[in-house]
Amino acid sequence: MLNRKISMPRSKSIALVAHDNKKRDLLEWARYNRTLLERHQIFATGTTGETLVRELGLDIVRLQSGPLGGDQQIGAGITNGEIDFLIFFWDPLEPQPHDPDVKALLRMAVVWNIPIACNRATADFMVSSPLMEGEYARLVPDYEIYRSRRIEYGSLMLGKPAV
Ligand code: PGA
Repeated sequence: MLNRKISMPRSKSIALVAHDNKKRDLLEWARYNRTLLERHQIFATGTTGETLVRELGLDIVRLQSGPLGGDQQIGAGITNGEIDFLIFFWDPLEPQPHDPDVKALLRMAVVWNIPIACNRATADFMVSSPLMEGEYARLVPDYEIYRSRRIEYGSLMLGKPAV
């Protein structure tokens, strides 16, 4: 599949999410990286955002709580090109009521090829990359080929005829 380029500006739109057992981790990480985070637009799911606002006073766009649709809002933000960077400390040891949403969010991050960190080590490496300091051309598969795929049902056909 061919790729097209999506430009990520110097100032990124970063989504922060942490499951309950990981909120302390994210808070410590965000405290350490606070100066850096202030240079970007920050989104967060409800309770994660509330914690970061209360403890660090960060300026954050707060979405719904994760289990109430916040993960899906972030997924939609990625799809719409409004969110281009995800720090998601999910809990590998506890089942979540919204596990399908978690999987869907991780999937959207891969579909749209945005940087994603699921633990502190990866988040540290990501934000200390020289790529953080400038624009970046993100390669995304040209999904036009997928959209125009040929589908047959009954006597009808959609899409371009195969050559
Ligand atoms: P929360 O949601 O920040 O509202 O706790 C996080 C999540 O479970 O996705």
